[in-house]
Amino acid sequence: MKPLPKVLPLERPYWEHAKAHRLALQRCARCSQYRFPASPVCPECNSEQSEWTPTSGRGELVSWVIFHKSYFRSFDSDLPYNVALIRLDEGPVMCANVVGIDNQALAMGMRLKACFDDINDEFSILRFQPE
Ligand SMILES: [Zn+2]
Repeated sequence: MKPLPKVLPLERPYWEHAKAHRLALQRCARCSQYRFPASPVCPECNSEQSEWTPTSGRGELVSWVIFHKSYFRSFDSDLPYNVALIRLDEGPVMCANVVGIDNQALAMGMRLKACFDDINDEFSILRFQPE
């Protein structure tokens, strides 16, 4: 079994939205900037007011690596797998696997959209796939 996320109270809304297959992030109620990871204060304007807001779920591939070695036995059958950075159209950069495409076909700047894997009753894990 793969390790499960350890959820901080501040991040709980993220996981609730993910369960409903929405990629939601904190959005500052003062300056409207989206932010990730979750934080109690806006890094742009220091406001403590924010709202969990669904994003477009769309963005572009800005970096990735291919894992050929397994660090958890439960990932053995996934090798080789990618771990990528995706810059959302709203600005924040997310870390996720890109699925639905061969690793060799990954390309800088390619358009991606969020999708979710329901791994159990509690968690749906963010992935991205070609738009
Ligand atoms: Zn702000």
